[in-house]
Amino acid sequence: MTNLFHRSRRNLARWFTLSMGSILVVFASIIYVCVVKDRQQAFDLELYGKSRVIASGIRYRLHQGQWRVKLDDVPLLGSNTLSIGSLESEIAYARWYSPEGKLLRFVKVQPKTPFEISSGFETLQMVMPEYGGHDSQEIWLRQVTLPVIQDGVLIGYLQIASPLTSVQETLTQLCFLLAIGVPLGLGVIGLTGWFLGGLAMQPIHDSYDRLHRFTAYASHELRTPLAKVLNHAQLGLMYLVEPDPETSSRFHTIIKTTKAISNLVNDLLFMARQEGNLDPKLLQQIDLVELLRTLAQEQAFNCEDKGLTLKTEFPHQPVKLSIEPELLSQAVLNLFSNAIKYTEPGGIIELRLVCFPYAIIIQVEDNGTGIPDQDLPYLFERFYRSPTHRVYSGFGLGLAIAQQIVQAHKGKISVTSTWGKGSCFQIELFLEKSRRC
Ligand code: ADP
Repeated sequence: MTNLFHRSRRNLARWFTLSMGSILVVFASIIYVCVVKDRQQAFDLELYGKSRVIASGIRYRLHQGQWRVKLDDVPLLGSNTLSIGSLESEIAYARWYSPEGKLLRFVKVQPKTPFEISSGFETLQMVMPEYGGHDSQEIWLRQVTLPVIQDGVLIGYLQIASPLTSVQETLTQLCFLLAIGVPLGLGVIGLTGWFLGGLAMQPIHDSYDRLHRFTAYASHELRTPLAKVLNHAQLGLMYLVEPDPETSSRFHTIIKTTKAISNLVNDLLFMARQEGNLDPKLLQQIDLVELLRTLAQEQAFNCEDKGLTLKTEFPHQPVKLSIEPELLSQAVLNLFSNAIKYTEPGGIIELRLVCFPYAIIIQVEDNGTGIPDQDLPYLFERFYRSPTHRVYSGFGLGLAIAQQIVQAHKGKISVTSTWGKGSCFQIELFLEKSRRC
């Protein structure tokens, strides 16, 4: 049960981390996208401002009877202008095209591809020769192409580009922050989830403990009155003055029912007491072959009584394992009693012990009634009984007890069955390195 609580707490923490983590990741992505957009908009605005500054110097004049574009006073592009330090360093290139798209003038980098008439912003990757004091390198540029119109006439296109280095630096810093912040956030969320999971499980744990104690006390307290009822019924039956069939039958019913309830109470008490892992002090090195052989000998009479054949298959050499012998015998006995109960006379029951390098397997197989497929997932639940077996006596605790014992030995119990053909219950006990056979 402690395992179940730990598993539930882990699951709670995992789901909390997953959901909160997803929200965090989505939130971080939104922040990233917003910052990218914001920085790009600011950069575009700045680039547009620069293009306007350059475009403001372009003159369209009537010269010797012809309209001409004069670029002499244009910052960067013009020959008469003083170099504007910051503008020159911030611009990767500036180009002036005729309205037909012919390159008329350029600064810094000559275009490699022909001009395509279009206006607006573009992001490009370009090899810049000796840019910013470095050797030629590939950098990202933001380019704007501006149609220049004066007096309602399109006089040409101004194209300028600026490196996106500052934007990239901001984004790299943001990425770095997110790369550290998101995993850190996930870690904090995971720890919080684990802590909250513990808090959420506490009341369930407490109420389970109370229920557990109640079952243990109630079963314990019920044992004495039940023993008294049984005692009195047996005495009553013995000292009947005038034994008549009806009275004796009533006494027999009382005795049978009291015995069944006593068994149920004992099972409940057993389950309440044997919760969790075994105390290592209780473990003993036991030869499983010997243990199962004794058990088979004891059960041989019950099989004989019901007309069943018992077969055994054990290794020739001893198979020693650290177990609590009484508990493990109880688990195998429960499987064995079921095999006897649910197999019709003439049937066969087989008890096997198989030794593998990593595990020891105990199998109880019968060719009895079998179990319908739909019941298999619930068989090991407390009080679960297959509806097809209601005619047989029992309370549905035998397999739950067997499972509890096997799990206390850190083993596994499983079943395979075919309805109408028989069942095979298997106990797997895992071997630690030091105890491999
Ligand atoms: P019960 O006291 O009812 O036998 P168990 O917990 O031992 O309780 O078994 C639960 C149910 O599993 C049984 O009611 C029966 O339906 C099914 N079962 C267990 N062992 C066998 C078996 N060997 N063959 C067929 N059905 C079985």
